[in-house]
Amino acid sequence: MEAVNANNLQCCHCNEVAVLTTAWTPKNPGRRFFGCRFYGKPGACRFFRWYDEEIPERSKEVINGLLRRLNKLEREKEAMESKKNPGTVVGKLL
Ligand SMILES: [Zn+2]
Repeated sequence: MEAVNANNLQCCHCNEVAVLTTAWTPKNPGRRFFGCRFYGKPGACRFFRWYDEEIPERSKEVINGLLRRLNKLEREKEAMESKKNPGTVVGKLL
């Protein structure tokens, strides 16, 4: 068995090992946190603890800027694909 670093192992209020998740909010893009593994399900606790240090303002701006560009490109790509294949769009509507 490998030694487990106690600092990296978090337990939530259900006494379960918390899961490491990545936040994608504009305030914390790409910042990881521990949360209850039952999050979103009935009976889940409200356990929450950041894993990563706070992201510097400049990095947030850069990451959010890149995400906006990526979203824009994906929308443009979808628009182009639906123009190329009007049949698939009609097929989805039927
Ligand atoms: Zn829990």
